[in-house]
Amino acid sequence: MQLKRPEHDINLNPLQRGGILTKEARDALVEFADGYSVCDFCPGRVDLIKTPNIKNFIHEELPEFLGCDEVRTTNGAREAKFAVMHSLAKKGAWVIIDGNAHYSTIVAAERAGLKIAKVERSGEPKYKINPENYASKIEEIRKKEKIVLSLVTYPDGNYGNLPDAKKIVNISHAYDIPVLMNCAYSIGRMPIKMKKYKADFIVGSGQKSMASSGPIGILGVSKEWKDTIFRTSKYYPKKELELLGCTTRGASIITLMASFPKVKERVERWDEEVNKAREFSKKMEELGIKQLGEKPHHHDLMFFDSEVLYEISKKHKKRGFFLYQELKKKGIIGIKPGLTRNFKLSTYQIPKKKLDYVIDSFQEIIEKNK
Ligand SMILES: *Cc1c(COP(=O)(O)O)cnc(C)c1O
Repeated sequence: MQLKRPEHDINLNPLQRGGILTKEARDALVEFADGYSVCDFCPGRVDLIKTPNIKNFIHEELPEFLGCDEVRTTNGAREAKFAVMHSLAKKGAWVIIDGNAHYSTIVAAERAGLKIAKVERSGEPKYKINPENYASKIEEIRKKEKIVLSLVTYPDGNYGNLPDAKKIVNISHAYDIPVLMNCAYSIGRMPIKMKKYKADFIVGSGQKSMASSGPIGILGVSKEWKDTIFRTSKYYPKKELELLGCTTRGASIITLMASFPKVKERVERWDEEVNKAREFSKKMEELGIKQLGEKPHHHDLMFFDSEVLYEISKKHKKRGFFLYQELKKKGIIGIKPGLTRNFKLSTYQIPKKKLDYVIDSFQEIIEKNK
């Protein structure tokens, strides 16, 4: 079996932009490719290994980077959310989530046995989350049953909207409900400190936004909650129960660590990424392709609504697949094959010159087929 990836120059897939490895991570990946490669000098738990220095990374560097008290890595952002939900779950209890929440939030809650209440979002075109709607949803549910957690997706993976998390935390805390910020699309891209929002839990994704091959999630908690979430087994006192003893034990943590110095640097240049995204959005709109979600936008992930490409697809012999194929011919991939009317893309870490080329390509495709 030969395993190869298709060649391309520009990949616009939001899922993949922030997970591209640094040179350092690519080298480390080969070095630590073997199974259990980090376990040569294990003192009984992966976050305590000093050679390589995972201990310092998890117990010193990550808490500082995230502005929280205690961190562990998990096998993905979803496993981190599940660990929190499962630790807090009680019979008949609820979790409050935003209307733009990722499916993995919902299945994590379902697996943890929690009932799910969704805070409505506004409709087209902005799909915004109004923090006040958390208050009304909490009021509605708490009349009947207990709420153990509020969750806000920051930003969501469809529109790239960044709700007012601070306000959501304030509202939830007024009812004594802790808050989890799902930052799969932000930690490693933008500067985020959990303390600034006064949240209780923060979750990130290494393969989504931290230049790691993953799968790896990071879970930050406040000191008030660390004994609840990271409680240990009564049979194996060193092993943390919710993490099933050990989590990321190989290339996932090593590539995360190898990229980390560069990731710390790149979050400081977040403003440039936002400016590039806004300029790209403006130029797409000049072509008649509308950006939905918050405007001006605050993130590189953007959702577009394109009547003009959809009209072309109705008459084109390749139907909806024409856009994918024409972009591919120009070395551009990442928009799902078959989509023309609605699609998302990311401009993250794509140089301005290449983004101009993407815009020119859209323009040529529209003009050629109209
Ligand atoms: C990608 C994504 C996830 C899932 O992250 P994993 O690390 O793959 O579990 C969760 N939430 C949001 C908003 C995402 O975009």
